[in-house]
Amino acid sequence: MTQSKINIEMPDYVLPFQVGDQSIRGRLCRLTGVAERILSAHDFPDPLSMLVGEAATLVAMLGEALKFDGRFILQAQGEGPVSMIVADYASEGDSVRATAKMVEGGAEKVAAAKGPELHYLMGKGHLCMSVDRGPDFEIYQGITPLKGATLSEAAINYFAQSEQIPTMVRLAVGRLSLPDEKPQWRAGGLIVQFMPAEGGTRERGETALRGEEEREAWARAEAFAASVAADELLDPDLSSTDLLYRLFHEDGVRVFDPDPVHFACTCSREKIAAVLDRYSKEDLADMVEEGKISVSCDFCRENYEFPVKS
Ligand SMILES: [Zn+2]
Repeated sequence: MTQSKINIEMPDYVLPFQVGDQSIRGRLCRLTGVAERILSAHDFPDPLSMLVGEAATLVAMLGEALKFDGRFILQAQGEGPVSMIVADYASEGDSVRATAKMVEGGAEKVAAAKGPELHYLMGKGHLCMSVDRGPDFEIYQGITPLKGATLSEAAINYFAQSEQIPTMVRLAVGRLSLPDEKPQWRAGGLIVQFMPAEGGTRERGETALRGEEEREAWARAEAFAASVAADELLDPDLSSTDLLYRLFHEDGVRVFDPDPVHFACTCSREKIAAVLDRYSKEDLADMVEEGKISVSCDFCRENYEFPVKS
C-alpha cells in the first residue's frame, strides 16, 4: 500500500482507490448524516429504508466517478410490494437523494422482509442507470432486467450486461447507536471495477479481461472485495484506509483524496407549482383540503402549501 496520510474528517464521503496496477479501480463510500437525513425523512419500513440507503450509497459511488458535471440517476422498477426506487447524484454540490414507492397495501409485506431483499421487495422489473449532462447533451441510459437477490447483485449484473465491465459491489445499511445517542442510520459501500486505461492495443471502452495475468488480478480483487462484511462497512471505529488495507494489501492499494457527499434536493415551490399546473381544474379541486393544496416532495418530504381562493 502506498502508505497514505489521508485523514478523513468528513462524515460522508467517497474514497477512490486503485488495486495493484491501474486497471482495477475502486471506491469506498461511507454515509452517516446523509443516510440519516434521507432515511429518517421517509420513515419506510426498515427493509425498504435499507434498500433505499443502499441505492443512495451506490449512486454516490457511481456519480463520484463522473468526469464531467451532470446528474447520475439510478432507477429500479418492479412488480413487488415496492414498485419503484430512485436515487440520484448531482456533481454540482456532490449531493445525493433517494426515495421509493410502495404499492397500496405494500407496507405490511415490506415490513415482513428479513432485510433489503431486492428480489422479494421488487420482484421482476428493470434497473436503469442514466447520466444527464444537461440540455446540450443527449441523456446516456442503460437498462437491464432487475436480476439478483440484492441491489449489489443487480448492479453487478447491470455492469456485466449493459457495460461489459467486470464489477464487484458490496452495500450495507444499518442503524447504529453510540452511547447516549439515539440510533442513527449509517450506510457503507464498496465497488471495484476492471477499468483498463484506454489506448494501446485496446479499443475504446473495451473492458473484457485479456490473458491469464489480467484474469487472475481481477479474480483476486473481486474475491477480496466480496469478502468485506457489512459490519466492516458500517463500523465507525474502523477507518476507511485501514479497511482498504485489510482487504487489498496483498496486491497493494493506492488511496486517493476523498470526495465529500452531501444531501440536497432540487425541489422548489416553482417546480411543484409547475407540476400542479398540468392537472385539470377538477383534479385540483379534489386535492383541496382546508382551503389549500398541500404537496410534499417525494425525495426530501419538504411540504409546500398553496392556498386556494374559494
Ligand atoms: Zn425535495
